[in-house]
Amino acid sequence: MEFKPYNPAEIEPKWQKYWDDNQTFAATDDYSKPKFYGLIEFPYPSGNGLHVGHPRSNTAMDIISRKRRMEGCNVLFPIGWDAFGLPTENFAIKNNIHPAIVTKQNVDHFRMQLKRLGFSFDYSREVDTTEPGYYKWTQWIFLKLFEKGMVFRDKTLVNYCPTCKVVLSNEDSQGGKCDVCHGDVVQLPKDVWYLRITKYADKLLEGLKQVEYPENIAQQQVNWIGKSTGAFVNFKVTGTDETLEIYTTRPDTLFGVTFMVMAPEHPMIDKYADKIANMDAIVAYREECAKKTEFERTQLVKDKTGLRIEGICGVNPLTGKEVPIFIILI
Ligand SMILES: [Zn+2]
Repeated sequence: MEFKPYNPAEIEPKWQKYWDDNQTFAATDDYSKPKFYGLIEFPYPSGNGLHVGHPRSNTAMDIISRKRRMEGCNVLFPIGWDAFGLPTENFAIKNNIHPAIVTKQNVDHFRMQLKRLGFSFDYSREVDTTEPGYYKWTQWIFLKLFEKGMVFRDKTLVNYCPTCKVVLSNEDSQGGKCDVCHGDVVQLPKDVWYLRITKYADKLLEGLKQVEYPENIAQQQVNWIGKSTGAFVNFKVTGTDETLEIYTTRPDTLFGVTFMVMAPEHPMIDKYADKIANMDAIVAYREECAKKTEFERTQLVKDKTGLRIEGICGVNPLTGKEVPIFIILI
């Protein structure tokens, strides 16, 4: 027998063309076969092409899907593009190209790369989240949630680049620097939409019992669902008509409260600036805080810094004792 070395440049395009021409991996309407649905997280088609994480996570489900086909299943292994995103928007603004054109170029590039890797996706059912025919359903779902009171607006802190005038993801503002212009990123309070997923905590926890997740993954889900039982308690604030509402899972420990903490951006600070003796120090501290990314602020292991607010105090509702209030990086 003649030994022929594996020549990917020759063999792989041949089979990839065959799979395309014959729609080898398209799911069919044959309901006589057992069904199998393999789903991966749809990639975000960036301008950089695939990264190693894509083949890493896609390969496992590709192996399972191929095995199920060989076992006689009617397999639906879809692919799509989670294509709305800030990087595309920023690229479009910077280069003066319509985001739809940028997105199409990126999607075409990603599809070509995935095909070259040989993944057995059903490309005939591709979805693109920026297609009006797709996102009209995203909007429909949002409206249904809105009608049922399941969405609400609240403030959060966002990473903001004052030079580019855009909100950045944590990934695009690592080390407190803008990924695009490399300038300093600041934290700004902004109104955003939230989904009231906490209403489903019990149902989600119940559902976890029905899936076969490895124990550590199931625990991650439990933590993410974050069900907590406790009480809201109001602390009056001296010299104001305000109360600070706190949440605790241990109301029995309220007697021992020694200090309270609020975010440096808390609106009460500006509202009662004339009552606060060290406002200059607070403003300086706040500017320092604004340079930290959300990631840095939420790291539990680092040393916390803080500053006492001079002039106003909380009042322990159980003992009537005054409690100092600090601002800290949270
Ligand atoms: Zn920037």
